[in-house]
Amino acid sequence: MNVFSDPTWAMTMALVFLLVANTLTRLWLASRQIRHIAAHADAVPADFADSVGLPEHRKAAHYSLAKLRLGLVDLALEAALLLGWTLLGGLQWLNETLLGWLGAGMGQQIALIVAFVLIGGVLHLPLTLIETFGVEQRFGFNRSTPGLWLADMAKGVALGLLLGVPILWVVLSLMAAGGKLWWLWAWLALVAYQLFVMWIAPNVIMPLFNRFTPLEDEALKARVQALMERSGFTAKGFFVMDGSRRSAHSNAFFTGFGASKRVVFFDTLLQQLNAGEMEAVLAHELGHFKHRHVIKMMARSFVFTLAGLALLGWLMGQVWFFTGLGVTPSMGDASANNALALILFTLVLPLPLFFVSPMGSALSRRQEFEADAYASQHARSADLRSALLKLYRDNASTLTPDPVYVSFYYSHPPAGQRLARLNAG
Ligand SMILES: [Zn+2]
Repeated sequence: MNVFSDPTWAMTMALVFLLVANTLTRLWLASRQIRHIAAHADAVPADFADSVGLPEHRKAAHYSLAKLRLGLVDLALEAALLLGWTLLGGLQWLNETLLGWLGAGMGQQIALIVAFVLIGGVLHLPLTLIETFGVEQRFGFNRSTPGLWLADMAKGVALGLLLGVPILWVVLSLMAAGGKLWWLWAWLALVAYQLFVMWIAPNVIMPLFNRFTPLEDEALKARVQALMERSGFTAKGFFVMDGSRRSAHSNAFFTGFGASKRVVFFDTLLQQLNAGEMEAVLAHELGHFKHRHVIKMMARSFVFTLAGLALLGWLMGQVWFFTGLGVTPSMGDASANNALALILFTLVLPLPLFFVSPMGSALSRRQEFEADAYASQHARSADLRSALLKLYRDNASTLTPDPVYVSFYYSHPPAGQRLARLNAG
């Protein structure tokens, strides 16, 4: 038989080709970024000479390099896991083992997916620990303790099971009984589920991990209230989140649907920024809402989910999709392969998607410029500039990234570009 006309063989070759191309590209990008940052580590860029000292600039370089090196280990682990699950027979073994214990049926399928996720999590555990208690600790950002870390993990797993198993059951049931158009019903269920999770997140999920206390700084509250009113928003309340329990990194965000929002400040941000800078950062966030970035992002994600499910619907009917990825599907009852198909699809799909990720990143960076422009109109541009400088400095973000690396990975424009636009505007 001609191996090139054998679809199983073609699927295997496609996987190997995609995995090699993906890994080499990511390796190339990381090495570019490492070289670029290392080459610029000993001189503060001219635009930042007044605001960033050389020791701070060096710290940012070393912090970025430490994270990139850890990323290289992760890259190797990801490639090994993908091969282990597929061509080396890991998923086949797990599926057969669970079939032996539980027999065929919904229970076995849910167990297969839960076991797959948990095993992946356990294998990633050493890297997660090194990130928090190695890299973040060494650079003074980690505030978490082993006890808090364990409690977070236990809560995360419990919450994942509580929220994940029901939707898994719904999707697998629709795959089994929804007929040819199951993917359309599954899509509707997933959209409803995502909206539901977003709805309960601020009041049910987030309080499990952090404490939210009303903002007490009356002067800041009045200022931010005035900003929201003149931008056409209603504040449902101002809260401070104890982000400093885990990390010295900082943030501000909004939660809630429609025009009324809860505004949440990290306590770390309140320590770093003055009232004017705070107002400018919030004006930037309001800019995202005014330009409907959040809704557009959700709409895009729903469209991609629908396309992905339709593709999965087709792939599941092809025996080579399973056999080419190292799994023997059940030939009798087709619905017995649903969990396997979901796992294989989520394993393999990111490989080709990575090559179109620069489009999404470019769009996101453009939206950041739009939000910055909005902030310059509704707050003081100079305040946004000094806030950004403080945030780049205090979070030890590199000021000298490699442009190609930026085009793939950066959701926000590099500091130099962002400040240059604010200066020009
Ligand atoms: Zn933004």
